Amino acid sequence: MSEPCVFCSIVAGDLPSRRVHEDDRVLAFMDINPISDGHLLVIPKSHARDLHDVPAEDLAACALVAQQLATRAVDRLDADGVNLLQCSGEAAFQTVFHVHLHVIPRYAGDPARDRLGQQWTPVHTPGDPERIAEVAARLA
Ligand code: AMP
Ligand code: ZN
Repeated sequence: MSEPCVFCSIVAGDLPSRRVHEDDRVLAFMDINPISDGHLLVIPKSHARDLHDVPAEDLAACALVAQQLATRAVDRLDADGVNLLQCSGEAAFQTVFHVHLHVIPRYAGDPARDRLGQQWTPVHTPGDPERIAEVAARLA
């Protein structure tokens, strides 16, 4: 038998969660280990393991809910910005194997509300143009 899925248990109501949105397809609830004030997770109710596995309609529905909640975080929590994060695979830090989008409100210069700090500052080191072109050709 496959392992019980924590997020399926949340969908079923067998595990507690602080829900902020629910519709036929999608559930959004607060992350229990928030990296910032308002950090929440958006999931399809129907189990899918990761980005590769989730049906397009569920992913699209989750993306729209994530957008709405990101806007709400700015309007109601005074977030200065929002990061959306999706981790697929252990190498990408996925720990719960029920696909989810993280909505992470960001608060500039406020470490009490935003513990992400500078960890995700994009690097501004130019890449090798040939390598970029080669990879683009493989992805196109
Ligand atoms: P990831 O590393 O992208 O798989 O993220 C999994 C997230 O799920 C982490 O941020 C956890 O804090 C969060 N999480 C795990 N269990 C629960 C739970 N029972 N309720 C809410 N969030 C959870
Ligand atoms: Zn699940």
